[in-house]
Amino acid sequence: MKRLFQPNIISILLSVLILASTASIRSAKAEGESSNLSYFVSTPAAGDEEETQIAEILSNACASEPNTGADTASLAAERIRFDEGLISHLSSDGKQSRNQRLIAAFAAARRVLEHSLDVDWSGWNKTLVDFRSDVYDCYAQNQSAFASLAVSMNIDLQRACATCGKVLSRDLRAADIPLTATGRQETQLSWRQCAALYYVFGEDLSNVLADTLCVQQEGSMIRGVTIRWPNPAFDQIAADGTKEQLVEAKLALYYLNTVYLEDGTVAPVSTVTFSKEYLATVSHPVPGGIIKNGWYDPRSHRTRLHIGTDIRISAKTPILAVTDGVVLHVGYLPIPGNYVVVRDPYGYEYHYYHMYELSTFVKEGDTVRQGQQIGRVGSTGNSVAYHLHLGLVSPDGVYLNPYDLFTQAGIGPVQTN
Ligand SMILES: [Zn+2]
Repeated sequence: MKRLFQPNIISILLSVLILASTASIRSAKAEGESSNLSYFVSTPAAGDEEETQIAEILSNACASEPNTGADTASLAAERIRFDEGLISHLSSDGKQSRNQRLIAAFAAARRVLEHSLDVDWSGWNKTLVDFRSDVYDCYAQNQSAFASLAVSMNIDLQRACATCGKVLSRDLRAADIPLTATGRQETQLSWRQCAALYYVFGEDLSNVLADTLCVQQEGSMIRGVTIRWPNPAFDQIAADGTKEQLVEAKLALYYLNTVYLEDGTVAPVSTVTFSKEYLATVSHPVPGGIIKNGWYDPRSHRTRLHIGTDIRISAKTPILAVTDGVVLHVGYLPIPGNYVVVRDPYGYEYHYYHMYELSTFVKEGDTVRQGQQIGRVGSTGNSVAYHLHLGLVSPDGVYLNPYDLFTQAGIGPVQTN
């Protein structure tokens, strides 16, 4: 896969052209900002004289880079190298304190990672077949494309993190700050994780990875600095965005974990047998409601499968927690409508969808007891009748059929046809 922004002479050349085409050259990127390399270029359009000047600057920069004698081109080229993380400070700010240089060194390492992960999305998107960003199944149909993206991302991550380490080592040595480098970046993305993150973040995926996987500083300038490589769980990577993006990424990953095998083929339906101990911990969320087995039913014009149990019952019926647990998420998304997610002491997640309103009965972080009201039955989101959709996720992130859970626990009534 081709990557943009390799710090080669072409990109420097092009950027010098952009930079030189304006009288006021300034970088849009302040220290520590997470956006990609970008410049605000104020026009007037270049006249003949300016064009000649640009050509001159370019030829100078090109001929003598990196030790160009032409001051303008040299400064412009230095600014580009700074923005790409290849140098940690500019000639113009040579009076930095050691602490400022420490901060600048980590910021430079951060930029290195960001630029190294600058995927050529336009090229990659061409490998996708019948891609619709709103349909999970399209991600599995494109399993091989996501598999190659994951491989490429993982290689880039390792390479970029090694460069980060070198940048830090060089800059801190120059500032006479002791550095202990420890370990290396360990996170490896699977195709499912890649697809789920891409589903939510799109082409911002590389920025999200740079934010969450970049080297972190421990220690101080005086006592010495230690490099720490974070090894975040999927949830922590997805949490780089908004709360809704985190929940969507989790739902997409659970879906891909459940419905598709590693090679992208559809996983057969399997029935899980719950332990007697576990079955004793559950109860009916809307007592009296008929529990329907709608597992794998087609949804959204057969573009995705139904992964849960529907329990039809009248509007505003109290929804009771199936188990004890902690409220992980309360929110709204287009398909679930108003939802509440509760994790029980065994690590199972219960997803309650289509609630009448954004729940005021519980808030995130609350501890709930089995049978406690957590919301009211509604028909929000992708729903055409008042009902509770209940989803159940195993501790390893796979949806299980709540219908199996209830029948094995002897909880009903259940619909048998
Ligand atoms: Zn449902």
